[in-house]
Amino acid sequence: MIVLKFGGSSVDSAESIERVVGIVRGLRHRRPVVVVSAMAKTTRHLLKCADAAAAGDLDLPTAWAIFEELRSYHLGVAHAVVPDAGHRVLDAMIGRWFKELHAAIERIAEAGRLTPRSADEIASFGELLSSSVFSLALGRSGDDAVEAPWIDCRQVLVTDDSFNRAQPIYDETEARMRKVFLPHLAAGRIPVVGGYVGATVDGVTTTLGKEGSDFSAAIVGAALGAEEVQIWTDVDGMMTADPRQVSGARKVRTLSFAEALELSCSGAKKPHYGTLGPANRAGVPIRILSSWTPHLESTAEGTVIGQRNPSAAPTIKSITCRDNARRILVHAPAGTERAAFLASVLEVVDRFRPALLVLGVDNQGIELALDREDRMFEIHSALGHAGAIHFAPSRTVITLVSEDLATHPDLAARVLQAAEGMDPRLVVEGVAAPCIRCLVSEETAGVALAALHERIFADNLWGPGEVVE
Ligand code: ADP
Ligand code: MG
Repeated sequence: MIVLKFGGSSVDSAESIERVVGIVRGLRHRRPVVVVSAMAKTTRHLLKCADAAAAGDLDLPTAWAIFEELRSYHLGVAHAVVPDAGHRVLDAMIGRWFKELHAAIERIAEAGRLTPRSADEIASFGELLSSSVFSLALGRSGDDAVEAPWIDCRQVLVTDDSFNRAQPIYDETEARMRKVFLPHLAAGRIPVVGGYVGATVDGVTTTLGKEGSDFSAAIVGAALGAEEVQIWTDVDGMMTADPRQVSGARKVRTLSFAEALELSCSGAKKPHYGTLGPANRAGVPIRILSSWTPHLESTAEGTVIGQRNPSAAPTIKSITCRDNARRILVHAPAGTERAAFLASVLEVVDRFRPALLVLGVDNQGIELALDREDRMFEIHSALGHAGAIHFAPSRTVITLVSEDLATHPDLAARVLQAAEGMDPRLVVEGVAAPCIRCLVSEETAGVALAALHERIFADNLWGPGEVVE
């Protein structure tokens, strides 16, 4: 079986949903489970609505205006993708979700404040709605009917209670997922479930954090032993840089799990950093594909994460950027063993992933970057146990990732040379995958990123590798 995950931009309109229905139908012989995100921008609007509700009477009309807008958006799209015969069921279902959302907004307005717990409750409606609509759109009757049961994500994804960034409880989640999904798959049905959202063992709604639907898809894939998790989005794979930042970005054929994790934590944010853990442990590769230009099956390529091509020429895989990185130097206390010191700092880095980034390790200590001011206090106190802390001015960190940097000194030397004047350093220790990081000012970051990309990828400096097109 395989897992197909569709992001917000892939289900943002009736036209997009039709295209996705076509993709899923075309892949039905591979026994898919479908994971969907909320329809474009819905999560953001829901949270804005919650904020307005908490802000008091003056802002309450804003909350209800957003509510109405979301309702008509969902009704409009849903009516266009579900045939008339299904509208009664559809309206009842959408009516039910908006009634529950209405009640949740009223509770927030009454309390006059928004807690992480109530924010998760409100945010969850995006995926509850999109997955319900998609299950009806996919399962509509016709010549070639498929059964597409809707699965409540809150029943199958069990998490702890760290609201806004909940962590799955894997044993319980795996047991529930197998129990719920496997009989449907065995019967030839295509289950549809919302991503991003889960619940505690007591049934309190939680979310996995931004981009969490990728993470949900990997959790489903790992639990069911999928052949592959396909993340369908608006780019045909991971590129050598974010195509929104670098116009000449090209596609990368393969990445290791470690390279994808390093990229995600260093600013790429795609796929969600959590995705790589379960996929790696279960050995399930992740493929990134575009739902806008679907080439099904035999020609499906995109980028595969988790299957390294051993014969590829060494190259940089991708470049990414993290703004506003507040630098923290942690000095090893005199007399401590280096290995023990490193282990204690890296434990904190892991625990607060992806808020902390390792910028470098030397004999004096370890240099980190922090991009979550809101977690400063917690992180400061956790690091304080490991060593003495000093702060340095914020910089933009540009990261070039490749496992080859550790094994091919010539590659590292050439990249360091290409990055001259950008304070480059080779970081091999303490990171998921070897990388070169450059520290530049925010004002020069755009130019530096473009220059590095140009120097490294423009003329395929290292011959044909895993970077294509
Ligand atoms: P979805 O709605 O499918 O989750 P996202 O917008 O969250 O899609 O993620 C896809 C976007 O990720 C792309 O449009 C691209 O701008 C961005 N992105 C950032 N870094 C990269 C990269 N290295 N390769 C490809 N896409 C990237
Ligand atoms: Mg996304």
